[in-house]
Amino acid sequence: MARFEEAEKRLLDVRICMKCNARNGLMATSCRKCSYKGLRLKNKVRRI
Ligand SMILES: [Zn+2]
Repeated sequence: MARFEEAEKRLLDVRICMKCNARNGLMATSCRKCSYKGLRLKNKVRRI
């Protein structure tokens, strides 16, 4: 199956809320859904 690099890149430039797992913008400081401040950057290390 082919890999969709563009889609992957998009998915990586994102912050994930650790409470509700909502996707937030890269510059977001709090979740836009629940305004929880525990956001994590999505793992960028995925090279084989
Ligand atoms: Zn949230």
